[in-house]
Amino acid sequence: MTPDEFRRLGHEVVDWIADYRESLPGRRVHATTAPGEVRALLPTVAPSESESLRAVLDDLDRIVVPGLSHFQHPRFHGYFPANASLESVLGDMVSTGLGVIGITWQSSPALTELEEVMMEWLRVETGLSDAWVGTIQDTASTACLVALLCARERTSGFSMNTGGLQSVASPLIVYASPHCHSSVQKAAVLAGFGVDNFRVVDVDPTYALDPVALSQAMRADVAAGNTPCAVVAAVGTTGTTAIDPVAEVVAIAEQFGAWVHVDAALAGSAMLLPECRWMWRGVEGADSVSWNPHKWMGAAIDCSVYFVRDPQHLIRVMSSNPSYLRSAVDGEVTQYRDWGIPLGRRFRALKLWFQIRLDGLDSIRARLRRDLANAQWLREQVLATPGWEVLAPVPLQTVCVRHRGADADGTLLEGDALDAYTLAWCDAVNKSGLAYLTPSVLEGRWMVRVSIGSLTTERADVAYTWSAMQRATLRAL
Ligand code: PLP
Repeated sequence: MTPDEFRRLGHEVVDWIADYRESLPGRRVHATTAPGEVRALLPTVAPSESESLRAVLDDLDRIVVPGLSHFQHPRFHGYFPANASLESVLGDMVSTGLGVIGITWQSSPALTELEEVMMEWLRVETGLSDAWVGTIQDTASTACLVALLCARERTSGFSMNTGGLQSVASPLIVYASPHCHSSVQKAAVLAGFGVDNFRVVDVDPTYALDPVALSQAMRADVAAGNTPCAVVAAVGTTGTTAIDPVAEVVAIAEQFGAWVHVDAALAGSAMLLPECRWMWRGVEGADSVSWNPHKWMGAAIDCSVYFVRDPQHLIRVMSSNPSYLRSAVDGEVTQYRDWGIPLGRRFRALKLWFQIRLDGLDSIRARLRRDLANAQWLREQVLATPGWEVLAPVPLQTVCVRHRGADADGTLLEGDALDAYTLAWCDAVNKSGLAYLTPSVLEGRWMVRVSIGSLTTERADVAYTWSAMQRATLRAL
């Protein structure tokens, strides 16, 4: 393809994306695709002759789009807001179009230096002190793995330079709440701690990690000859957006010399709002923090930021220095290859640069405040409606609900019958295509999470979803 052909076809693709975004409110939110259905519509062998863009776009419309749940839909309330603002999409296109790779600073100096500036912008705008420096990781899962590798090496006195964890005399322990994201335990396992050395600490009635239980667990480990190594505190848990008490966690971890990683994957966007920063009170005492602009803030996936207070430690854990990557400016510049796992890095900072410059922080903040207000509005509606319960505090944009259905005799459903009913009405909403909700287990029973905060979700959309939920409960018995 010549640049001239690209210009022509590229316009068509941009038009296609714009048309798709415009069409979203009229589409079903949730894909009802059966397993294998999309595969069956695709040729089993690759074409040897070139095809037209029109043919590809037709298949996109005919085969691919019907097989998608639409995350950018105004009534997408599943999982978490996974916003891909069109501003950041433009930045992503430029990143891919430039086709440069950050291997070393020298391989693409502007890639590194724009990332440094974006990290500074986000550090300042989320109220972190200048003790922090950041880098972009692909996901919060990777950021947590990097954090636990750094914790492991700090506690073990760089066991990686000798026999690794196998040479450590007493097991190193990682602590988190039962509501932490699954990626935390996965990171602990991948970092070599082992499932047996991953402690699940009790929570308080708001589902936040209980500092007393944390302290007891750490003391019990020391008494048993184990070594507390790291605590992962979640600011905004995945299930209910509970807020682990970072200041208390930091104070306890300090007594044991343990690393504190703050996982604010979703909630980090809210730290752009000064009124929300109480949620990570004490963060300045943590060792690392990550959050995902690719969630609520709206930088198209993948864009997770990882801030540390001791970059030299991170570099010592992550660095590799083969001769073919050395340069005369080493020592003067940031080599992000030594701040994470991959060598080759995409120019992700462009997504942030485009979004922040084209959208503007004021508009991003106004949107986040709109979503917070919409979540409070829904919470009030649910609380005021007989038979409905709000199951957890709503500090952010997720409302966790259950409807206490009754059987034909008017007896309130309990136990497994209540679970089956909850899953049935949630499924009915999703199958209707009107809105998309994700069920989740809380204290052993199913509930439904209504996550608010797609870019185009307005109060009317939340009201529409709420009435679809109420109608679905009438039909679910
Ligand atoms: N941590 C929390 C609290 C999350 O809610 C999520 C995703 O939902 C993750 C981590 C994982 O994020 P990622 O997909 O960026 O790895």
